[in-house]
Amino acid sequence: MDRFDTIVIGAGVSGLTAARLLASEGRRVVVLEARDRVGGRVVSDRRYGFATDLGASWIHGITDSPVAAAAEALGMRTVEFTVGGYQPYSRPIAYYGPDGRRLSDDATRAFVADIEAVDEVLLGVVAESAPDASYRDVTESALVAQAWDEERTQRVREYLEHRSEEQYGAWIEDLAAHGLDDDVVDGDEVVFPDGYDRLPRSLAKGLDIRLIHVVSLVRWSADGVVVTTDHGTFEAADAIVTVPVGVLQSADFVIEPPLPEPHASALGRLRMNAFEKVILGFPSKFWDDDVYAIRQQGPEGRWWHSWYDLTPLHDRPTLLTFAAGPAAVATRDWSEEEIVESVLVQLRRLYGDRVPRPSHVHVTDWQDDPFSHGSYAYMRIGSTMSDHDALAVPIGGVLHLAGEATWTDDPATVPAAMLSGHRAAQNALGRALAIEATWA
Ligand SMILES: Cc1cc2nc3c(=O)[nH]c(=O)nc-3n(C[C@H](O)[C@H](O)[C@H](O)COP(=O)(O)OP(=O)(O)OC[C@H]3O[C@@H](n4cnc5c(N)ncnc54)[C@H](O)[C@@H]3O)c2cc1C
Repeated sequence: MDRFDTIVIGAGVSGLTAARLLASEGRRVVVLEARDRVGGRVVSDRRYGFATDLGASWIHGITDSPVAAAAEALGMRTVEFTVGGYQPYSRPIAYYGPDGRRLSDDATRAFVADIEAVDEVLLGVVAESAPDASYRDVTESALVAQAWDEERTQRVREYLEHRSEEQYGAWIEDLAAHGLDDDVVDGDEVVFPDGYDRLPRSLAKGLDIRLIHVVSLVRWSADGVVVTTDHGTFEAADAIVTVPVGVLQSADFVIEPPLPEPHASALGRLRMNAFEKVILGFPSKFWDDDVYAIRQQGPEGRWWHSWYDLTPLHDRPTLLTFAAGPAAVATRDWSEEEIVESVLVQLRRLYGDRVPRPSHVHVTDWQDDPFSHGSYAYMRIGSTMSDHDALAVPIGGVLHLAGEATWTDDPATVPAAMLSGHRAAQNALGRALAIEATWA
């Protein structure tokens, strides 16, 4: 049996960051990865000859972002695309009313002002909310405070439902009142025309990574850690476990002795979401120029309500929409063709026969991915923001949990994954490390 200083489980951005930092300090590190590739939930598909991101695509605000710093240092090309935070109108958005007709500029301005009015009240309502309040509870209180008629209230209510679905892949009644507290975009947002996966692929260079090694058991004690995979057993002084919450909660991944408190309870309050991408490339463009996104209001927008114009990435007419929350759950067993048809019905309501059949299609299936069980974790009712950090407290001096869900400030993101990997490396080493060493 090989003995290492540190075993890192998972070659996503979190695991790669931790492994790189420790290896640069001279530690003997091995990374065990279940898939046949690195990157985890950062994955770019090139089947049509250009890069399409099937997992993460945005840096949700480049100001002070370590991922933005890494991308710049690695020479990764970016395209500004500041509509990734479900903002009401961060950049031009074409809104369509319940009748399928585009809203005038004045009507759009009024709708956006209504959302902003609710958001202003919402901050205070969330701050004072009961521990078992849902995001629905707090948004309803903020809506009632406006004393609007039903039609006006309903338009904003829908927007708030969709924000919960698109930002966290969760139905508004399942998300904790504080579930969107972290939802702040600092600076412009950007995406990667050459693929986000250039980041993990660069971070992986020079590391000892064992692909297609599925970990089933992590046994820890004061003497160190023994990790069982389908390709043998590995031993080390300590381990950094970066698998997603969905894997940590599954019976296929056993930690022995089981996670202590507060880790076990904090983990129990988080849940993997239902959030899938549907990307449609068209032979010709049928939507308006100069808009970043298209949004549909009303009952017809229950599932398919927002489309993002990815055309500038490759100069090919392309729209991205999401099956998020209830839509992802309901369509989980649908074929790709059924999902595409369902999206096209809604697009044709808005644009009629001008909508051709797509020439390029990507539909993801993160819910059925055995190495993630969903796209990212959300806060169930009863959870608190501190549940994220609670997971990262070192266990017995030998076991460290890392990954997007263990970072409180903006979890569910690539920066959270990177920062959590940095923290885990520091905890394992017992001293501070410059995060810049990750991409140096
Ligand atoms: C559809 C989608 C859209 C997203 N959009 C954005 C976005 O726009 N911006 C953003 O910042 N973030 C986004 N995210 C979230 C972001 O991708 C994640 O937060 C981040 O990549 C998580 O990194 P990680 O290292 O924590 O986990 P992962 O990337 O999941 O890495 C964990 C690794 O562990 C491996 N593993 C799992 N089980 C085992 C096992 N039993 N044995 C060995 N290895 C195992 C996995 O294969 C994986 O490689 C999105 C995610 C998805 C899925």
